[in-house]
Amino acid sequence: MVKREASYVEVLPFEGFGESLTYRLSSHFLERVRLGCLVRVPLGKRIVTGVVLGMTDSVKFDSSKLKNVVDLVLDQPVLTKDLLSLSSWLSSYYACPRESVLEAMIPAPVRRGMKIKQRRLIEISEPMEAAEMESLAKRAPRQAKLLAFLANQKLPVPRIETLSRLQVPATSCDALKKKGLINETSQREERLAYSDNLSGDEEMVDLEVELTDEQEIARNAILEKMKTDTFSVHLLKGVTGSGKTEVYAKVMEKTLRKGGGVLFLVPEVALAPQTVGRLRARFGKNGFKTVVWHSHLSEGERLDAWLDVARGDAPIVVGARSAVFAPLPNLQLVIVDEEHEPAYKQEETPRYHGRDVAVYRAKLNDAACILGSATPSLESMRNAQVGKYELATLTKRVDDRSLPTVHLVDMRRELLKTGFTQVLSQPLRDALRDRFAKREQSILFLNRRGYSTTMLCPECGFTASCEHCSITLTYHRVGSRLRCHFCGYERPSFRHCPECRSDEITRRGTGTQRVEDLVKKAIPKGRVLRLDADVMSKKNLFRRALNDFRRGKIDVLVGTQMIAKGLDFPNVTLVGVVDADLSLRLEDFRAAERTFQLLVQVSGRAGRGDQEGDVYAQTYSPESSAIQFARRSDLDGFVEEEFRQRKEFGYPPFRHLVRHLFRSRSEAKATFFTEQWSLRLREIVDPTEIEVRGPASAPVEKIKGYYRFHLWYFMHSISKSLPKIINLRREFPLDEEVSDVIDVDAQDLS
Ligand code: ADP
Ligand code: ZN
Ligand code: ZN
Repeated sequence: MVKREASYVEVLPFEGFGESLTYRLSSHFLERVRLGCLVRVPLGKRIVTGVVLGMTDSVKFDSSKLKNVVDLVLDQPVLTKDLLSLSSWLSSYYACPRESVLEAMIPAPVRRGMKIKQRRLIEISEPMEAAEMESLAKRAPRQAKLLAFLANQKLPVPRIETLSRLQVPATSCDALKKKGLINETSQREERLAYSDNLSGDEEMVDLEVELTDEQEIARNAILEKMKTDTFSVHLLKGVTGSGKTEVYAKVMEKTLRKGGGVLFLVPEVALAPQTVGRLRARFGKNGFKTVVWHSHLSEGERLDAWLDVARGDAPIVVGARSAVFAPLPNLQLVIVDEEHEPAYKQEETPRYHGRDVAVYRAKLNDAACILGSATPSLESMRNAQVGKYELATLTKRVDDRSLPTVHLVDMRRELLKTGFTQVLSQPLRDALRDRFAKREQSILFLNRRGYSTTMLCPECGFTASCEHCSITLTYHRVGSRLRCHFCGYERPSFRHCPECRSDEITRRGTGTQRVEDLVKKAIPKGRVLRLDADVMSKKNLFRRALNDFRRGKIDVLVGTQMIAKGLDFPNVTLVGVVDADLSLRLEDFRAAERTFQLLVQVSGRAGRGDQEGDVYAQTYSPESSAIQFARRSDLDGFVEEEFRQRKEFGYPPFRHLVRHLFRSRSEAKATFFTEQWSLRLREIVDPTEIEVRGPASAPVEKIKGYYRFHLWYFMHSISKSLPKIINLRREFPLDEEVSDVIDVDAQDLS
């Protein structure tokens, strides 16, 4: 066999110029460096880390000037083959640099080559005779103590912890080792996230349930498609409480038995423990390990999770958006729970949609993908309608539990009756009291956006707004301060109106704190807990709070939309929606869709146990179709009507929407460059292929001192049309003080 002269690799450095470069492999690395490996290479005067994206035996140019790869960070590739292809697709589809995609794919501790923590274990090699033991105890009492302890252990024990507990010095341990009386081995230290927390009420007992007819039909349809090992996407449309998770689990079981890996995405980190608990209870006993994967893990936990997955030790990965990049070696099933959630969209570079990436990754692996929701996104409904996705439907709750009754409280009528606007209407307060008397639990729900209490002067109309953002400041009772939710700016609240000096200036609006106070007034003996972003920011508080609620230590939960998702509390019989119209007022073509989804999802939190549930939704526009369809839980009716409108205006899902945002501290420059760009763009694009709308100022005109303008591009095919815009943009110089962002399939239009 002829030994290869030299081999070359294409390396994309993380801190380079966005281009991959060719390096030479010395014989030392020839056998070890593979596609997807992390290597260290010289770049200018620095040594930087990069990923091997290509390998070749010859180069077309003079190779004598090429530099060598200087180090291999990890012996195994950090990217599987499918992730390599995925990174290239992502970078072109979402028009973002490949390095930023690779950075999102490879966890930081792995990129930095963080070492794996080894744990030393000790055990007894052969038991000692009693007489010998006695003499040892006289000569070396601490050695004897250790040996006696080890003699009683069934499994090897951790060295450091054992020695410190027994107060035996390391020298005694080493002496025993030398004599061959004990063995020392090492094992990778486990930092299994959540393993310590799965005690008490969160411990999930796995009940093997018998599938309902509908569940069985759904499962069989999915498994049937999977038999052929070809790519398929299944939209599992199932009302809240219909047992979608059970369907996922049954399909997972089959996949795991065949040796396949499973990716399970949830929209919010907070929902991961609940899902992990269920899956560990179900599959742990069969030796299938589940790891959690999300951005809140410590570096060590991240590294462990990554290694477990990459080595094929853990075939199940549960996590939020970024888990879609977990390096499962044999991925056969991808599950996206609550697929409609906007949280799947990443709102910073790379601005990918976790659900869509999940679908594409399944495709690269000839795998199956299940998208589940009680309120699927219109994008997925459309894909099912045109036959791209298979549709599986669960129309009934398990055990035929009924869906809650939705009562619309017409706040206009309440206003006429009482003469003033109320936060909690009489019917809702009565319902709360009634539940409390019956020892049943309630959830009160406020939309995240606009839940602000702000300061308003009734004399001159002044409202307190942020100096850096075009946003009203939110009043916080603690410390009586006003705060900006965009940039964090804070100031004391006003005593006098700064405009007209009136001291009539007051708080206005509805905040979670305000609702909490009103609930306490309505049921003075009730135990009320408020959950919002402020509480959430404190570590673990959220999980503890949910546990308390589950245990019945709390009667009423007041919170923002995070409590609307996927949580399953059997004793909740009342859900109150304080302001069902809020999302309707957004300047967003998805306003009706969001309103519908939120109402149906929050309603789904009620009546999941043996008692029936009620929902009270307070609204000033009870006639709006989103609210009417939600009241009847009529998804298909809503989708049909919404499709009609979206189609008429060519909105998604009938065309893709790309949002192009320009930002600058200088309003004049932002306006000027946005205008110039739009003129230039309109010169070259064919309006029947790409429809350009704008420029216009963004709904939030200013954030952190930056003025914001945007353009919208509508197109049928991203891969065909977007490159035309990107190419033109490369040749269009922007002023230093202006920056822009291209957001493909934009969700956030604020
Ligand atoms: P969804 O995700 O569709 O809202 P879940 O999967 O959370 O619903 O299921 C709701 C509840 O019903 C859970 O407590 C689950 O354990 C239970 N469940 C699911 N399938 C069955 C079944 N076939 N028989 C009995 N209980 C079931
Ligand atoms: Zn005033
Ligand atoms: Zn601000």
